[in-house]
Amino acid sequence: MNIILFGPPGVGKGTQGAKLAEQFGIVHLAMGDLLRAAVSEKTELGLKAKAFMDAGKLVTDDLVIGLIEERIIADDAVNGFLLDGFPRNVAQAVALNEMLEKHGLKIDHVIFMDASKEALLQRLTGRLTCSACGFGFHRHYSPPKIEGQCDKCGGSLYQRTDDTEEVISQRLEVYADQTSPLLDFYGDDNVFSKVDAEAGMDEVYASLERVVKG
Ligand code: AMP
Repeated sequence: MNIILFGPPGVGKGTQGAKLAEQFGIVHLAMGDLLRAAVSEKTELGLKAKAFMDAGKLVTDDLVIGLIEERIIADDAVNGFLLDGFPRNVAQAVALNEMLEKHGLKIDHVIFMDASKEALLQRLTGRLTCSACGFGFHRHYSPPKIEGQCDKCGGSLYQRTDDTEEVISQRLEVYADQTSPLLDFYGDDNVFSKVDAEAGMDEVYASLERVVKG
């Protein structure tokens, strides 16, 4: 099964996507995580991507398209994949359609997660991520048991450098200008669904699960 999860920054794609992918036995391909790994490994791609990410802008299409094509045909994606953060503009969605056709693959669900700007801002400014396993926490909504330490693996928690107020507002603008047109691109498709992501985590997950189980 292949799924595209999209929506604004802070809507919960990463947390919910990881859980869904685990439950349905498919690989979670979070473009932001793939890029952050490339940045910390200082690969050629990471070095090119860093300035865009720090500024809250989109990394160029050629870099992300190449990266995703490698991953959807990799061995760990034989049972399927969940795309989180890709595509992020119409050019990427067109490129994705071409690569799916080339590899004889299809998308089973395109799920749009939505929440108000106020909720997104609150979620983004309190977000904490484990530096070892990538698990996400929130200072107020889902704090770790021990401050600064991951409940899952004991790793140390950090705030993403692009989760500052200034970069967050740039990311929300980029979303409105470049990513929200995907609603028109996918909106009439029979695999398209919209999920209200303003509710609590468990409720949102239950809605996503209902969509995927059909
Ligand atoms: P995320 O973790 O999904 O919020 O992504 C963090 C940052 O990575 C974004 O602000 C962009 O700079 C970059 N990024 C993630 N996905 C994409 C994409 N599909 N296209 C271009 N840039 C991306």
